[in-house]
Amino acid sequence: MFGLIGHLTSLQHARKACADMGFEEFSEQGLDFWCSAPPRIIDDIKVVSATGQEIEGRYVESFFLPEMLAAKRIKAATRKVLNAMAHAQKNGVDITALGGFSSIIFENFKLEQIKRVRNLDLDFRKFTTGNTHTAYVICKQVEEAAPKLGIDLAKATVAVCGATGDIGSAVCRWLTARTGIKELLLVARNQERLNNLQEELKFGQVKTLEDALPEADVVVWVASMPKGVEVEPDSLKQPCLMVDGGYPKNIDVTFDFPGVTVLKGGIVEHTLDIDWRIMHIVNMDVPGRQLFACFAESMLLEFEKLHTNFSWGRNQITLEKMDLIGEASRRHGFRPLLT
Ligand code: NDP
Repeated sequence: MFGLIGHLTSLQHARKACADMGFEEFSEQGLDFWCSAPPRIIDDIKVVSATGQEIEGRYVESFFLPEMLAAKRIKAATRKVLNAMAHAQKNGVDITALGGFSSIIFENFKLEQIKRVRNLDLDFRKFTTGNTHTAYVICKQVEEAAPKLGIDLAKATVAVCGATGDIGSAVCRWLTARTGIKELLLVARNQERLNNLQEELKFGQVKTLEDALPEADVVVWVASMPKGVEVEPDSLKQPCLMVDGGYPKNIDVTFDFPGVTVLKGGIVEHTLDIDWRIMHIVNMDVPGRQLFACFAESMLLEFEKLHTNFSWGRNQITLEKMDLIGEASRRHGFRPLLT
């Protein structure tokens, strides 16, 4: 059995989604309530592979909201993640993806040091961040969508916002080794980590976001920002491809400008319908078939009976692992979203 630990993108989103999640009575509640709510399994899922194999899974809502970080409710945020992990493990899940901010909180607050949750010892081998598959899917989206827009990657400058993160660094490794892009622009806040990445890649230039955007033919957004930033469209090249893998999205969702194509990054579409409700709740365009690549990673590990923390720790994603999960992804009928 596979598991997915997820959360909603804001208090506003959570209030709107209450009825769909089966607890309408919570829709007037404020952040305090969400800080204290225990995790719940709100969806039982069946997925059929393109090979015909069938698996079952569960979606655990952690009740974490990005506002908890902004309001410095760190204890609440970390408790949400640990309690959701314990809940998944107690309910017999063999491999669970830590969706969106769950894995970021786990890493940032070093939760591997807290193995015991009440009377349960967490078995970290039963969890995966899902970031290897997410990075792979984003790279494929860049490789396949850019030529369709008339962008020749061999002549292209690609900016990665969130370059030093777990997903961002893997994307940078792939772009450097596999695509032959002309230039790579590395964007994040911490200068030391940026310099270390540039040294590891032996490629790319460190830039601020303001300097990188006007130079970029392609922008990959994988920064862990609790809210989307506003982008000044007049400064961008045309055509420009933006692959936004953030959850919540890195670019303001209302952004719409001719000549600039924004692709939902890190999203896959399955060949067959999936029997679930959760993707309706997160407003996926085709909720029966489209899903986050990190969630798909736990499905792939279940299909492959690889009950192990395939993606774990920060900046450990290798090209070999991206190849392996990419091959499984194709075999079981998932493909990167291209429209
Ligand atoms: P990490 O925490 O590992 O990395 C985040 C990166 O963002 C770092 O490089 C960080 O560097 C940078 N960053 C944070 N804030 C800013 C900012 N204001 N400006 C510029 N850079 C910034 O995160 P992950 O790689 O695990 O995840 C990245 C994003 O992908 C998140 O939004 C996450 O929710 C999403 N995600 C999507 C998935 C999917 O399936 N589509 C799956 C998993 C995650 P610094 O702190 O130095 O600025």
